[in-house]
Amino acid sequence: MELQLKQGEVHVYLAHGDKPEWPCAECGASCALYDHQPERPWRHLDTCQYRTILHASPPRSECAQHGVRVVKLPWAEANSRFTALMEGLAIAWLKHASQKAVAEQLGLSWDEIHGILERAVERGLARRKAEKIPYLGVDEKAFRKGHKYLTLVNDLTRNRVLYVAEDREQRSLDGFWPTLTEEQRDSIEAVAMDMWDPYVDSVREHVRETDKKIVFDKFHIAKHLAEGVDRVRRREHKALKAEGDDRLTGTKYDWLRNPATMEGEQRREFAQLRQSELKTARAWALKETAMAFFNYVYERPARKHFHWWYNWAMRSRLQPMKEVAAMLKRRFDNIITYLRHQITNAASESLNAKIQWVKYTARGYRNKQNFINAIYFHCGGLDLAPAPTK
Ligand SMILES: [Zn+2]
Repeated sequence: MELQLKQGEVHVYLAHGDKPEWPCAECGASCALYDHQPERPWRHLDTCQYRTILHASPPRSECAQHGVRVVKLPWAEANSRFTALMEGLAIAWLKHASQKAVAEQLGLSWDEIHGILERAVERGLARRKAEKIPYLGVDEKAFRKGHKYLTLVNDLTRNRVLYVAEDREQRSLDGFWPTLTEEQRDSIEAVAMDMWDPYVDSVREHVRETDKKIVFDKFHIAKHLAEGVDRVRRREHKALKAEGDDRLTGTKYDWLRNPATMEGEQRREFAQLRQSELKTARAWALKETAMAFFNYVYERPARKHFHWWYNWAMRSRLQPMKEVAAMLKRRFDNIITYLRHQITNAASESLNAKIQWVKYTARGYRNKQNFINAIYFHCGGLDLAPAPTK
């Protein structure tokens, strides 16, 4: 050991005693010592306030089958410049603080912190078991501004992100299926998603009996209906204003809100508005009635409700609502699947909060891959610790 007080460092030099046999790093068979690699350093946990560095010349053994290999070191994974305890510490901190903060506190460079995170994710993904995944949610997330997207596959049962890919194309989702075993693929009972054809096509190509399994997200449907209402409102507002009628002024968000969350005066005012003869009020009633579909338990009455609603919408003479109704009719086979599976594609609130946090602390991310790794790290439900610490 060497104590360098001025530099604030402790250097520990490791050597081994006489040992004729060494296990092959590949198969574990006892082999003869071949030689030693040149000495190299590993950053270890600090000793008191001193940065602590281990030094060693790793032995290499010669296996009849695998040739000359560096033996497994008890303090570090292969190719790491940190001891497993040090990496474990960085990983534990990374779960709670931004990459920038951890790098600063532990005296690590960007490359080092990214390397630790990337290895942790690789390790975690490799350790994943092939559990059943009955309910999946395919979700898109905007990555920074400028409409760059990521595709996320959520395991709705275990509340974790299974897969992240760039863009929201068919190929983005296509990459997910090969990560599953045949059994896992057969265990899929339903996949929730937005009404987005590239995703539909990918599921169709990779999952059996897709038609019964795709469930269009009810919040995505609600969004389309709300947009329809808003288009009706904008048009009507313009016409009314031209006649000096400002009833619709400042009401945009009232039509999007749940009236149950309104209070007192506001609630009474809105009630008057939505019971009026306004077109916007009719569009709003159409939206609310359409969403009542999702409260049905049985398919037959639900079908009847939709059929009746669809005819009402088509007779409404409200063009935006007619357009939404036509779309919902076209998509209906994968809307009614909701009643059986009752799933939406959104990650749970706790998972979403984590993703938001990853986005929020993403300022230091140099590229999308680092952002993707961070999602796996925080939301993948992975076992991340380096092996030798166990
Ligand atoms: Zn071997």
